[in-house]
Formats: sequence, C-alpha cells, structure tokens
Amino acid sequence: MVSLGRVAGMVEMRLKTCHASAICPSCGTSSRKVHSRYIRRLADLPWDGVPVLIRLQTRRFFCVEPGCRRKVFTEALPGTVARYGRRTCRSGEALRWLTLALGGRAGARLAERLGLLASRSTLLRELHHRRPAAPVRAPRVLGIDDWAWRKGHRYGTILCDLETRKVVDLLPDRDANTVAAWLQRKRRVWAVVGGCQSYVST
Ligand SMILES: [Zn+2]
Repeated sequence: MVSLGRVAGMVEMRLKTCHASAICPSCGTSSRKVHSRYIRRLADLPWDGVPVLIRLQTRRFFCVEPGCRRKVFTEALPGTVARYGRRTCRSGEALRWLTLALGGRAGARLAERLGLLASRSTLLRELHHRRPAAPVRAPRVLGIDDWAWRKGHRYGTILCDLETRKVVDLLPDRDANTVAAWLQRKRRVWAVVGGCQSYVST
C-alpha cells in the first residue's frame, strides 16, 4: 500500500501493482519491460459502513515476443478486478448477491446503507454478467425488475430465479406485455407474491 486517507467521506487507498513481470494475453510470453503507468479507480467493499475507493497504479508492458501482433498490453489482476472493471471482484460479488436477494431498488438502498458504491442500475448491470448462455428451466419463484442496458439508456426487464439465485432471462424492454408473453411461453400458472415484482408458479 502506498497511502491511506479519507477523501469526500470515503476511505481512499492508494495502491500499486508490484509483480516484476506480466503475461501477454495474446501470446502468453512473460515481459518485464514496462511501457507506462496509469491510475484505475475501483470501488471496493466498505470499511465499517464507510465507502472505500482504491486508486490503483497499474502498468502497461511491452510484449517482448517479436512475432506477437500485440505490442503493448495491460497487466491482468485475476481474482482482484476484471480487465476493464470499475470495482473489485469481491465488491461485484457482494452487489450480485444483494440484487438477487432483494432486487434492484431495495438492493440499491441496502448497498447505500452498507457503504457499497453502487446505483440501482449498477446493481442490475452486475447481474448481466451472470446471464445464462443457454435456456434454463422455468423457475418456480420469479423475481422481476427493470434495468439499463447502458447507464441511463434503453431500459429492459431482468428475470431472476429467486430460489437458485440465477438470472433467467433479459427482456429487451420494460413493457408489461413483453413480460406477460414470456410468462405465457413458459406454460406455467403464476401467482403474484410480495407485491408486483415476484411471482410463484403453482
Ligand atoms: Zn505477445
């Protein structure tokens, strides 16, 4: 760690990567030749309810394999942060669990109380990474919420299996008719529970 401070109501950790080398993602060759450095800002898990922001100094490396088409690459931090992620993996995992348990709206409220830096749209976008590649069986208990495909733009509907805690499907809009058609396609009888956002098949 380089330094630790409190900035604008948040704990700010300044960190820098320290591995002597990095692996080129294209050819797998290890390189120690640093090209440049830049700062990534990452939301992390809160400390005692106080939001935590990591300012991480990351490096770009030259690929030293002459035949490789990638001349420069960014060092990867697997298990810590995704290549283009804006939050740590553990923070993203916490948000996904919150969203699956509570939905976007209530999940965002609890995330704020806990000190997790995330809007409702951010929570629902996190779930997008768990969208199933193949169709899954119709869930028995279904959670429904709307979410933004892009921040502030083009809202769709997200359907979650509240028992298996998995994303079942993403619908292209938030029209009630689209949801009704999806429910009818599953050929199950649905009963509304807990307000208008959860359904149980009978
Ligand atoms: Zn390479």
